[in-house]
Amino acid sequence: MEWQPARSRPTEELWQRPKLGAALARGIANRCPACGQGRLFAGFLRIVERCEGCDAPLGRIRADDAPPYFTIFLVGHIIVPLLLWVERAWAPEIWLMSAIFLPLSGGLAVGLIRPVKGATVGLMMRLGLSDRDHGPDPLAGG
Ligand SMILES: [Zn+2]
Repeated sequence: MEWQPARSRPTEELWQRPKLGAALARGIANRCPACGQGRLFAGFLRIVERCEGCDAPLGRIRADDAPPYFTIFLVGHIIVPLLLWVERAWAPEIWLMSAIFLPLSGGLAVGLIRPVKGATVGLMMRLGLSDRDHGPDPLAGG
């Protein structure tokens, strides 16, 4: 009988990377980018450790500062042209502009941060970007 090394069970299973469009759409819908079934968030912006549908290690995908950056970028590109248009068309008082555009900017940022973070996590999953400092890459499946 020939000796064979004991096969150790990998600490993390390998996950198929979702297609880019599916990963983004599922992330925007606050669903697991891998399967589209499980929830992506455990709180307002906290990512679940593992998908309840497919057990994908979503907590290992760290988006860090990218979602706020993308959100500020989007809100700026919505608010600034609108603000300039209103200023040119009606030239309202500065207090009225502030009373309209400050809450609008804040509301847009709060409303967009979750779908933007979901899309960022989906993009990172597609690109295979995960936290590799704490074990093998769980997204290395291909
Ligand atoms: Zn899943």
